[in-house]
Amino acid sequence: MSAGRRITREKKTIAAMLAIDCRDHHASARGRCDDCAALLDDAQRRLDTCPFQEEKPVCNLCEVHCYAATPRERVRLVMRDAGPRMLWPHPILSLGHLLDKWRPVPKLKDHKCDG
Ligand SMILES: [Zn+2]
Repeated sequence: MSAGRRITREKKTIAAMLAIDCRDHHASARGRCDDCAALLDDAQRRLDTCPFQEEKPVCNLCEVHCYAATPRERVRLVMRDAGPRMLWPHPILSLGHLLDKWRPVPKLKDHKCDG
């Protein structure tokens, strides 16, 4: 499956958020410790198999619970903490994410999950 623009941007967004969060909380110079690298891998794989693809809503409005219990909690915290701080280093990604919040939220039953 080749990723569309929306999914590609979503991957950049989660990568940037994780880098900010990792630098802050794990004091990793590269902005990506082993844990965060694994989490990013997982997040990007889930985006590849997201049933909504280009119609994907923002994660906290989505009815598909992509992340398994523990990583989901971590991802939620990353988004909450790093989200607002994305604006300065990543204005375009932040603006895109802001606009995504106004998208209609699709229902899973209207989509076939082929992931
Ligand atoms: Zn980390």
